[in-house]
Amino acid sequence: MPSNLWDDILARIEGKVSRYIFQKWFKPTRQLNFDDDTLTVVVPDDLFKDWLTKHYDGVIREAADEVADEIGRPKIKVSLVTADAAPATPTAVSSGSGTSKPAPGTATRRRFRQRYTFEGFVVGPSNRFAHDAARAVAEAAVAEAPARSYNPLFIHGGVGLGKTHLMHAIAEYLGTRLPQQQPTCTYISADRFMNEMMVAKRCDQLPDFRAYYRSTDILLMDDIQFLAHPNRKGTQSEFFHMFDSLYHAQKQIVISSCCPPRDLQFDEGLKSRFKWGLTVGIQPPDLETRVEIAKKKAEHLAAIPINDAMALYIAELNQSNIREIEGSLTTLIAQASMRKQEVSLELAREILPNLGEQDKPTITIEMIQKVVAKHFSLKLSDLKSRNNTQKIVMPRQIAMYLAKTLTEASFPEIGRKFGKHHSTVMHACNKIENKCKNDATFKALVDGLVTSIHKSIQ
Ligand code: ADP
Ligand code: MG
Repeated sequence: MPSNLWDDILARIEGKVSRYIFQKWFKPTRQLNFDDDTLTVVVPDDLFKDWLTKHYDGVIREAADEVADEIGRPKIKVSLVTADAAPATPTAVSSGSGTSKPAPGTATRRRFRQRYTFEGFVVGPSNRFAHDAARAVAEAAVAEAPARSYNPLFIHGGVGLGKTHLMHAIAEYLGTRLPQQQPTCTYISADRFMNEMMVAKRCDQLPDFRAYYRSTDILLMDDIQFLAHPNRKGTQSEFFHMFDSLYHAQKQIVISSCCPPRDLQFDEGLKSRFKWGLTVGIQPPDLETRVEIAKKKAEHLAAIPINDAMALYIAELNQSNIREIEGSLTTLIAQASMRKQEVSLELAREILPNLGEQDKPTITIEMIQKVVAKHFSLKLSDLKSRNNTQKIVMPRQIAMYLAKTLTEASFPEIGRKFGKHHSTVMHACNKIENKCKNDATFKALVDGLVTSIHKSIQ
């Protein structure tokens, strides 16, 4: 077991939050001890404790779960204690006061998800353009010759098609080739960006926040569609100014989104900026690419090579989303290990039966609405009404999210079925996806609804 688990968890957290937040709030923390699956971490004072618990509890838990998985422990519970509550140790904990920006050259290299590399990315006709562009950006940055024609690089595509993977791959490419962290690279998802901005505003640290982002050499902004909402004009405008400042300083900007710029609900000014550089789309992969991905993921997940027939079986099962390929493989590997059997085609057929596309009844938005309304004891019409009381808003958002994940419907189509604008649907999907990530009870509720929907069509 690693001697300092908190350092490992911090390395994960570093890939999930911006440098600004990491330096300011996570850097001044240290491990006290690890006992009985509880990791005690010392933070400078109550402000840190409250702030981290309030804003970053989910991130800490996510990172701790990842490390627990990696070292084969059931769960690591992280408990924060303040420096004065902890027994004194020779290592002083700095309060994090003063500037939050590390002195040039002293910053530690950010560690990104190691598995999200260019080498681990299977290239096929559906994603070649995006892959090549991302790689060109990374290579140009290493050569200190920013690829001007690729600035900004705007990557769009559906859920689970590799956008985040490519962004992390750029960061990883730079990190391994330029360990001194020059140029600096910042990865941030739009929702976290907004969260950080709001916190900075509340704590009167907006200038600090701005200076921090504007000093980055390469900005990787993931899931920009999150900001496409009328209520997020403030963050849009903050981003707008940041974009201009980086662009004019010839810094590289890479943006990902679930849809092309023209479909985003942004001010025209920002939308036109997105088109100054190169816009590339990722489509769902063809069968051949999916087979290669299945093989690569099997090796990565369990270090077992799977044969062509198995890879083909899994690839045919999951047609549009690569995360589903991983899901099928994980289920298969877990079942094989529980049953103490080899991973085989027979086992795959038993555990992951291919119902055949024609025989599979399709899930419709109406079915989803019915199941969700029933679960929350609402009327079907409530979900489509203008009523925005909390009792109705959350179930409606869940139903929209399920419509997006369980059917092929586009955001505007879903919007029509709920009598809402498509940006409202996008907002709902982001919100529910994030809540599922950070709240296990809520995720269990959503999973339960998915099961009920599947049952309702059998
Ligand atoms: P997105 O950000 O577009 O929703 P992700 O980048 O999170 O999608 O990808 C979902 C999963 O699929 C990740 O585990 C990623 O590694 C994997 N993936 C996507 N595309 C590829 C690819 N071409 N080769 C290998 N893995 C891929
Ligand atoms: Mg993503």
